[in-house]
Amino acid sequence: MSFVEPSFEIDEKGRVICQFHSNFSFFIMPSKTMLQEKQMEILLTCKTCQHYLNNDCYFPRREIDKIEIDRTKKHLFICKFCGNYIDRMLSVIQKLYLKERFNIQVPLICCSCYESLKNHKLIKDLKIKSNRIKLNLIISILGIVFMYLTRNLFLSMPAIYFSIWFLIILSLFSFLLQYFMSLSRLNSMKKGKKFFKEHFS
Ligand SMILES: [Zn+2]
Repeated sequence: MSFVEPSFEIDEKGRVICQFHSNFSFFIMPSKTMLQEKQMEILLTCKTCQHYLNNDCYFPRREIDKIEIDRTKKHLFICKFCGNYIDRMLSVIQKLYLKERFNIQVPLICCSCYESLKNHKLIKDLKIKSNRIKLNLIISILGIVFMYLTRNLFLSMPAIYFSIWFLIILSLFSFLLQYFMSLSRLNSMKKGKKFFKEHFS
């Protein structure tokens, strides 16, 4: 059985588009309205392509489904520069295709880093992103310390104020947890900067 070989291009927003996708002409249509852009974001996946439905793509339907589970549920695909999860399926498919078919290794890059790379400000943007994570971490810790030190003041007030105090400290802890979870991203960004310096500058 013959199958369709995918072929890819990248648009000005860094989105990977398959030239054999059934909606290709819509994807590359110039001057799309905001609504059409949103529609494109929804349609830009193998699952809306006729070749996926007919199961005649180079990637069998079963494999595409597995890749999608690895991407969305297991979060196995992350950006080489910033450590963010890759939110577009075709970026992953393109990488796997080039590796499988031609043994070409290309780094997985999220759209935001693609944009920074295109504008020659990747290192600067990575620095901003990592500083933002660090700053949020410091603010959460300072907030918790402040709330802890003022606990007696709130305890002496009517119960409603203590409930507010409790809610604030709870949210600060949840922020703190969130930022601790992003610490691995700081490590990814550090590696991403090193990778950039080795291969792009
Ligand atoms: Zn990125």
